[in-house]
Amino acid sequence: METRMSDTLIPRTPSAYDYPLLIKNLLFCPVVDNPDQEIVYRDLYRLTYRQLRERVRRLASLLTRQGVKPGDTVAVMDWDSHRYLELFFAVPMIGAVLHTINVRLSPEQILYTIDHAEDDILLVNSEFIPILEQIRGRIDTVRSYILLTDDRELPRGTTVPFSGEYEELLAEASPEFEFADFDENTRATTFYTTGTTGMPKGVYFSHRQLVLHTLGVLAVLGSTTAHGGFRRDDVYMPITPMFHVHAWGVPYVATMLGVKQVYPGRYLPDTLLELKEREGVTFSHCVPTILHMLLKHPHAARIDLRGWKLIIGGAAMSRTLCIEALKRGIDVFTGYGMSETCPILTIAQLTPEMLHLSTEEQSSIRCRTGIALPLVDLKIVDHAMQELPRDGATPGEIVVRAPWLTQGYLKDHKTSERLWEGGYMHTGDVAVRDERGSVRITDRTKDVIKVAGEWVSSLELEDIIAHHPAVAEVAVIGQPDEKWGERPLALVVVKPGESGTVTDKELTHHVREYADKGVVSKQVVLVRVRFVDAIDKTSVGKMNKVALREKYA
Ligand code: AMP
Repeated sequence: METRMSDTLIPRTPSAYDYPLLIKNLLFCPVVDNPDQEIVYRDLYRLTYRQLRERVRRLASLLTRQGVKPGDTVAVMDWDSHRYLELFFAVPMIGAVLHTINVRLSPEQILYTIDHAEDDILLVNSEFIPILEQIRGRIDTVRSYILLTDDRELPRGTTVPFSGEYEELLAEASPEFEFADFDENTRATTFYTTGTTGMPKGVYFSHRQLVLHTLGVLAVLGSTTAHGGFRRDDVYMPITPMFHVHAWGVPYVATMLGVKQVYPGRYLPDTLLELKEREGVTFSHCVPTILHMLLKHPHAARIDLRGWKLIIGGAAMSRTLCIEALKRGIDVFTGYGMSETCPILTIAQLTPEMLHLSTEEQSSIRCRTGIALPLVDLKIVDHAMQELPRDGATPGEIVVRAPWLTQGYLKDHKTSERLWEGGYMHTGDVAVRDERGSVRITDRTKDVIKVAGEWVSSLELEDIIAHHPAVAEVAVIGQPDEKWGERPLALVVVKPGESGTVTDKELTHHVREYADKGVVSKQVVLVRVRFVDAIDKTSVGKMNKVALREKYA
């Protein structure tokens, strides 16, 4: 007999509670309820989880008193702080949308995002008042400004009509606030892509999506026994900004786990290393550029970095960097995702057996893009959306479905349709996958270099060149070429003191050795080398290949 779907739907008992997946539940129903556990802001402020909850209630009262209603947008310009963590919770919990402004965008781009997101209230760290002064006359939607400052002083001479300072307003606000239930599909957050081409695009995530992302990440990090776990006794410090993809969503995971959290303010290498040591930080995440900067800092030599679990993402980690970190005892491994994906899609952890491999062998596993998180349906496909073999060699585009992907770009129907063409989200990343399901990104579709019709992986080539002892940093882009269509161009920054000791010939010879071993395609030997002083970066510290192509290709 045929079963109709309506026969199997669970009947609703009128008085049964229909539990919505809301962000408030991450705060109020955690894995570990640890009211005296600490949250630290630089060397300036320490609060407990008990206080965090009270301050979140006060913040909700304060915002409501300022006229914030469900559906309004509350925007923030701050470095990573306990205040930001409070806003991560309080704003969505009253049904409003949190707009985390990327403070590294240009003032014009910041103005564009404020207008586009239709921000109603803006909380601004005093450091960003000069930016705000430049654009304020052209901001149409914001009706109230709140000052965030570490020294409680109202800045002199500013024309911004602040309604008050955060701490003072919070102290006056009521600690009584009942958070109502609402639809779990309500928009909770919005922020903008880094906008290397054209104006930034807005993405957005619901309560349901953020809760499921938190659980998905926790399932992977919490279930590993070998290494790279996030556990109750860890101490967490983000080193990817809270304005960029909710600091990879990890502050939500950390709060649900009830661990000690350390917020470092602006990312200054000395402060980060000092906090790491003083507060006993054991779990962080950052882009490769920051790891590189930390390891090179003179203070790093004096600090014990052993046991620091560090997810590296946002860009591919080179094996050279990975080995350097492993030698310092740091447990580095890759995570992959993008603004559109909340962000985490894959993580590259080792199985217990793999931990017996040599550092060199482990580095190639830790630098892979990794295995998809639970509930992430990830495929590598050709142009016709046909899945490609899991042979570790056939490259195609990564497309995904997951419960936590943006439904589209804010107010941009056409681009949203393109993002979701064929019912899967297109990442624009080119990758291969092996039979274990482990993914390795070889390029962005836009960065792919085609030499005589054959794809050459810029990431592979960068990895090889970075292995040369004189090389500090390298970016590979495609350069139009009459004979070959395109040839790879390596832009190389040499290490301090090595200038003049290495020639382009030596580096091409170094590349040829890898090609001769059959490790990479023969086409890589066509690489040209150009020495440069620095490599252009995006607002979140990644190589800006669009700018590099404009400049050099
Ligand atoms: P964004 O939206 O600015 O966070 O950038 C997302 C893009 O960064 C992805 O589409 C990838 O191209 C790149 N990316 C992120 N994580 C990794 C990774 N682990 N390896 C290589 N590329 C990455």
